[in-house]
Amino acid sequence: MSISTTDEIGQKQRSAEKRYRLLAVLAHPDDESFGMGGTLARYADEGVDVHIAIATDGVAGSVAGGYEHTLKELAAVRRRELESAVHILGGTLHMLGYRDSGYIGDPANQHPEAFINIDPQESAGKVVALIREIRPQVVVTHDETGGYYHPDHIQCWKITTAAFKAAGDATRYSEIGPAPYQPQRLYFTGLSNRMIKFFSFMMRLRGQDPKHAGRNKDIDWTRIGIDPHHLHARIDYRRYWDVKRAAAAEHPSQGGGTSRSRMFPEWVQRRFMATETFIRAYPAVADGFREYDLFAGVVAD
Ligand SMILES: [Zn+2]
Repeated sequence: MSISTTDEIGQKQRSAEKRYRLLAVLAHPDDESFGMGGTLARYADEGVDVHIAIATDGVAGSVAGGYEHTLKELAAVRRRELESAVHILGGTLHMLGYRDSGYIGDPANQHPEAFINIDPQESAGKVVALIREIRPQVVVTHDETGGYYHPDHIQCWKITTAAFKAAGDATRYSEIGPAPYQPQRLYFTGLSNRMIKFFSFMMRLRGQDPKHAGRNKDIDWTRIGIDPHHLHARIDYRRYWDVKRAAAAEHPSQGGGTSRSRMFPEWVQRRFMATETFIRAYPAVADGFREYDLFAGVVAD
């Protein structure tokens, strides 16, 4: 019998025992909520053992108005925000312990301890250690564009992809225990460029320049987004909309994820935009392949 992909049966199977495990490796404190928070909340609620590894401390992140005073102690502030958000999502938090690198051109990129300046062999080893300890069947990270070309996101993609390949190989990182483990699926987070084009259009209508978006005006929305044909997995999180919003709200130093909500009424967003999309990297699938569950066909072990 093949494993059913329907919500109902999936939930029952997963709730019986915590035999399904997911590891998300993401760059910053807030990526777990603003990005794939709906998916994480949904799987945690369905009984999957959800683990969230955050690579950096977020010290190079800009802060929302009124939070300037926190710059000195930003790492501690963001750590507390992250812990609250992960608690709401229902996951277990792991920190890789690196320094935030900042966006393209940020002087923080030059810091010798910045995540992007660490030997990827070393940082991939930390992800190998997590994979061998947690034994997740499904691993998720950023895609090779980092979503919006953030160097830390791209670094995360690089080391997690390397760790995914190495974790099951007894000849690689042989000093890291407890035993080699090969996860069954690797996914990358990805935003549809169809959606981005629509948002860019709306921004122009509102007199904003999509080429200079974001709080620091350094994000070019016209370069963002993946062709929908390459987005293989679509996770509906309508039932977890409020959980994602609540987790995002735990990051007030980062604006609490409210940027999108002003564009459309909340009910429109909840009804039509409560889907998070992923590229399936391993095992590879053809363009146009569609699935609605990251654990579809995954064998519990
Ligand atoms: Zn980030």
